Amino acid sequence: MKLSKIQRAELKQKFNGHCAYCGELLGDKWHADHIEAVKREIEYVGNGVLRTTNEMLRPHNDTLENLNPACVPCNTNKSSMSLESWRHMLGHYRDVQLLRDSTHARHLHRFGLIEIKPNPVVFFFETFGGACQ
Ligand SMILES: [Zn+2]
Repeated sequence: MKLSKIQRAELKQKFNGHCAYCGELLGDKWHADHIEAVKREIEYVGNGVLRTTNEMLRPHNDTLENLNPACVPCNTNKSSMSLESWRHMLGHYRDVQLLRDSTHARHLHRFGLIEIKPNPVVFFFETFGGACQ
């Protein structure tokens, strides 16, 4: 859907100007992310593997309520995954891929310069309006 200037400004303020997912303060460049995808859905199936499901267009998901303000990296990384799929994939980045695929990260980890936290993957909007309001 094409948002009016006012709708876009309101959407940006949905979480006080922060990205709904990572919590970064949004600058001039940000995306209106469909929480539930409108186009064909991508699913994270585990072990770093993404799969396209056979679901086709779902125009009923193209509503204002289904939009979240997102920074460009979050919107790009989430792509058309569901939140749970994306959450699973982010966990896999941390638990498997980071130290396996990045020599730099492995060295920094060996020297105790980076710490990998076992926390669950929580999106900013899931705690927004809790303790801080
Ligand atoms: Zn973000």
